[in-house]
Amino acid sequence: RAKEAGRNTYRFYTDEMNQHAMHRIRLEEELRHAIKEQQFQLHYQPKLDLITQQIVCVEALIRWQHPEKGMVSPMDFIPLAEETGLINEIGFIVLELACQQLQTWRANDFSIKQIAVNVSSVQFEEPEAFFARFNQILAEHQLSKNDIKIEITENLLMKQNEQVINQLNQHRDHGLSVAIDDFGTGYSSLSYLQVFPLDELKIDQSFIRHLDDAPRNKTLVQAIIAMGHALNMKVIAEGVENQSQMDFLLANGCDVAQGYLLSRPASASELEVWLKKHTT
Ligand code: C2E
Ligand code: MG
Ligand code: MG
Ligand code: MG
Repeated sequence: RAKEAGRNTYRFYTDEMNQHAMHRIRLEEELRHAIKEQQFQLHYQPKLDLITQQIVCVEALIRWQHPEKGMVSPMDFIPLAEETGLINEIGFIVLELACQQLQTWRANDFSIKQIAVNVSSVQFEEPEAFFARFNQILAEHQLSKNDIKIEITENLLMKQNEQVINQLNQHRDHGLSVAIDDFGTGYSSLSYLQVFPLDELKIDQSFIRHLDDAPRNKTLVQAIIAMGHALNMKVIAEGVENQSQMDFLLANGCDVAQGYLLSRPASASELEVWLKKHTT
């Protein structure tokens, strides 16, 4: 009996593993297809300057319009895209779409200062190749480095790859702005802040979500804001969903806010309607 159960257990796991592997293989195939068929689009979420009450930037967030599944969240395909290297191609599609949209908005008198794109650490594996194409895409849309912000995560800086840091610094010297996304969630020490100057620190939304849960959460956010400012960074809160969070951020000198309270990520045309309402 025990032997039988053991065998069944073994088979159960194998089936599950097979299913998992099959799912990955199918998803990878669909991702390749999606690249070819241009099934990706961007949604945009505004970032509000808390002092001037102006929209200072818009973050581009990828969406996959799957022919059968409908809209697929980046959370469900970016990890596999990273593992398979497909993120390299997808990343350039994102940059291309974002630049195109910014150019269109400017031609239509929407004064958006900057567009922010998320860049995965995998995309920096060959930093020279990445920036060569990056420069090319910007030039094709008559944009300069001042028009773009890239959002990177702590794990990239943790690696402290000198080539990557040099390239990023060089581009920062030419106006590119670099934000650290999801700050506070990585397992890294803060030592990367010594070697790598950043323009913007985005406090991860988990800190904002739990602001009202306990006094220490407020203390933590205050400390992050103070640290960011001491290191010459703009501090931005993501995931701002209610007025009490907004009030706290305003009262504590946070520079920029982003979240559902202002606007959910929206299609370009939806954002245009929102912008018209917001600026009048
Ligand atoms: P992220 O860059 O930290 O983006 C913020 C995420 O929080 C977005 O989820 C956004 O829709 C969501 N969000 C914004 N405001 C609120 C709020 O008030 N409440 C809550 N609960 N959520 C809010 P999304 O669009 O599903 O993207 C998830 C993650 O996927 C992004 O996190 C980013 O890491 C990644 N991602 C998205 N687009 C790209 C891309 O083009 N390239 C790469 N490499 N990663 C991307
Ligand atoms: Mg981001
Ligand atoms: Mg984030
Ligand atoms: Mg995130």
